Amino acid sequence: MKRYLMTPGPVPVSAEVSLREAHTLIGHRGKEFSDLFSGIEEKLSRLLDSEGKTVIFPASGTGALESLSANFTGPDTSVISVSCGVFGDRFREITTLTGARMINVDLPPGEGVRPDKVASAVKSNPDASVLLLTQNETSTGVFNHIDEIIGELPKNGRPLVLVDGVSSVGAMPCFPEKWGIDGLATASQKGLLTPPGLALIWLSERGWEAASKRKCPSYYFDLPRQKEYLYKDAPENPYTPPVSLYFALDAALDEITSDGWFAERALAARSLAAGIESLGFDLLVRDEKFRSPGLTAFSHSSGETSAILKRLKTIGVEPAGGQGKFKGNLIRMSHYHDVRWPEISLALGSLYAALGESRKQAGDFMRRAFEIWEAN
Ligand SMILES: *Cc1c(COP(=O)(O)O)cnc(C)c1O
Repeated sequence: MKRYLMTPGPVPVSAEVSLREAHTLIGHRGKEFSDLFSGIEEKLSRLLDSEGKTVIFPASGTGALESLSANFTGPDTSVISVSCGVFGDRFREITTLTGARMINVDLPPGEGVRPDKVASAVKSNPDASVLLLTQNETSTGVFNHIDEIIGELPKNGRPLVLVDGVSSVGAMPCFPEKWGIDGLATASQKGLLTPPGLALIWLSERGWEAASKRKCPSYYFDLPRQKEYLYKDAPENPYTPPVSLYFALDAALDEITSDGWFAERALAARSLAAGIESLGFDLLVRDEKFRSPGLTAFSHSSGETSAILKRLKTIGVEPAGGQGKFKGNLIRMSHYHDVRWPEISLALGSLYAALGESRKQAGDFMRRAFEIWEAN
């Protein structure tokens, strides 16, 4: 049976990306690989709107977060950790392991991070040298406005801002240099529309300087060591890179850097959300400003959410369920990839079919979704 994958990672990969991934293997110490690597760096520069290069190494997103923590935190650091869900908690847990003194700021799940709350935590903890943020909280579908949060921070002596961009980069604007991010971590299998396996890290000048002054206790995750190889005339990876995934990423970046990509993702999210609400579901993120352009989380007031999810899977549509305290009571549907009206109608039609008894309460869901889609 054909299955429509709508999990928030991994995401469906296009035929172009799969074909490129199937490229004959090449050695990773030679001109052909360096050229491929340089091409990827150029496309990432365009995506992130930054001249700075991006470290790429084999790991999942968690490995990228661990690398940031290993290079910037330790028993000598105080860290402000802002969390609005499972992934904010994970970044905190990883950082706690380095021995850092943690100052925790928590938000109720489904609520976005308010800049004034972070600014006041920074002001009352002047010894904190690192601030942890999540751009897109994948467990709830909350999208945080990192630019606004950093904009509220004191201009002088502010902590290094480390951002979990694992599910945001590629699917929504993320401009680390312009916004003042110091360390950005992401991975290949979400907004970057590539199979799982690559971790990516971008650092600001201030970030590189701070990392170079510390001794990283990890050999593999040591970022200054990665930098030596990245900034060679012909860039390389210090250790064996998964070459096939580099080919795949190179092809995926062509898709993602096409004109209007971010606006199209946001439009698909709005159209889908309108349809989902008309079907009788409750969106977890109430405030539209904080709704993720990459994934939508919702439940059904009948308490039948988990049965609906099961029925969806038998139809052949596969979103993810809830995590943490939302286990069994949430559906998370991703739209990081090239979702247009055919995919939106497929998702909404399948949700309608999966409603069971609650179908009677469904409104004119296709009309509402299509009006939004068509108006743009
Ligand atoms: C998926 C995800 C992670 C973890 O990534 P893995 O690749 O599963 O290790 C971390 N943070 C966020 C926001 C995520 O969405």
